[in-house]
Amino acid sequence: MIYLDYAANTPADPEILRFFCEKEASLIGNGNAAHRAGRETAALLEETAANAAELLGCAPGEILFTSGATEGNNLALKGMTADVLGGQIILSPLEHASVREPAEYLKKRGFTVAYLSLNRDGTVDLDHLAELLKRETALVAVAAVDSELGVVQPVAEIAALVKERSEARFHVDATQAAGKVPLAPERIDTMTFSAHKIYGLNGSGMLYRNRRAALSPLFHGGHGAFRAGTPTAALNAAFVMALNKAQTERESRFKEVKEKNAALRAALSRYDKVSLNSPDSAVPHILNLGVEGVRGTVMRQALDGEGVCVSVRSACGSDGEPSAAVTALGGSRREALSSWRISLSHLTGEEEIASFAAAFDRCYRRLTAKA
Ligand code: PMP
Repeated sequence: MIYLDYAANTPADPEILRFFCEKEASLIGNGNAAHRAGRETAALLEETAANAAELLGCAPGEILFTSGATEGNNLALKGMTADVLGGQIILSPLEHASVREPAEYLKKRGFTVAYLSLNRDGTVDLDHLAELLKRETALVAVAAVDSELGVVQPVAEIAALVKERSEARFHVDATQAAGKVPLAPERIDTMTFSAHKIYGLNGSGMLYRNRRAALSPLFHGGHGAFRAGTPTAALNAAFVMALNKAQTERESRFKEVKEKNAALRAALSRYDKVSLNSPDSAVPHILNLGVEGVRGTVMRQALDGEGVCVSVRSACGSDGEPSAAVTALGGSRREALSSWRISLSHLTGEEEIASFAAAFDRCYRRLTAKA
């Protein structure tokens, strides 16, 4: 099997898995319990929040652990608008479903939703953002790196504009950005992370929340101001270990992935009917492309038959619909329907790129002969 779908899920790092197993096995107490076993678990929870805060450059009280980015995005969008009576929500058109759908849900609760225009390289059009921002803007959400094209947004510039021109809350989905680009929570109210994109364990994630941003919880019942339920000490600690490793090794991993992306782009550029949808400035981990006249779903299936795993849209998008991301970048309906995504890792071997190229060549010939 040739796995090229790392933006959907990464394999758990064995060191992180071992660390999790040790902590999970040794800490038997509920972190909320007032006895020795509980205090041992609570100590790990405290240490973990402090470590996460140090990594991000914030206060431990600004760290919340979640089950992943879907929960983090829902908590941020619904939680920060809970006490606001309507108003405008501004989104980039490259948002993941777990940001877009809560916003569309809030539309039914009296909010309006406006989508930002993009520049040719996929970055948010800052003039359009300035035009849209008004007194009634409640929230702006932008993914630091989107999952389909890998566009890197100028988060600091967007944050500055939002804070200078409005009272709006600014949410950043950093799920695909963590471990790929530098991140700082400056002028950001909430920022989401997910463990399984950074070689951590499925079912865990983190939400940074600026202490000045009022947030209503999604879950009620028992201890925990923002997330009721028994705290997941070992899972949180494993998440922070994954984040620490992803940040420490970010530059070396990035360099390795960049080389593989260049090899891939060179191999793909030989085909007349291939168009690359990811801009050159995208993170090298994500390469979105299309073959003229061949639906992305058909190409994915053909490659799957060759033992190659790639995605159409993101793994969470629905099949058969044109890609909203490719459309937002100015692509035609046909281009949006033919798009699919390769996502790379520092773990991807050169021989895997070569095997992929050979498999792609067979699929391309067969499918374009029919097209
Ligand atoms: N945001 C982005 C940009 C993503 O890529 C994903 C995962 N596909 C999510 C949010 C949702 O993350 P999770 O699976 O942790 O809920």
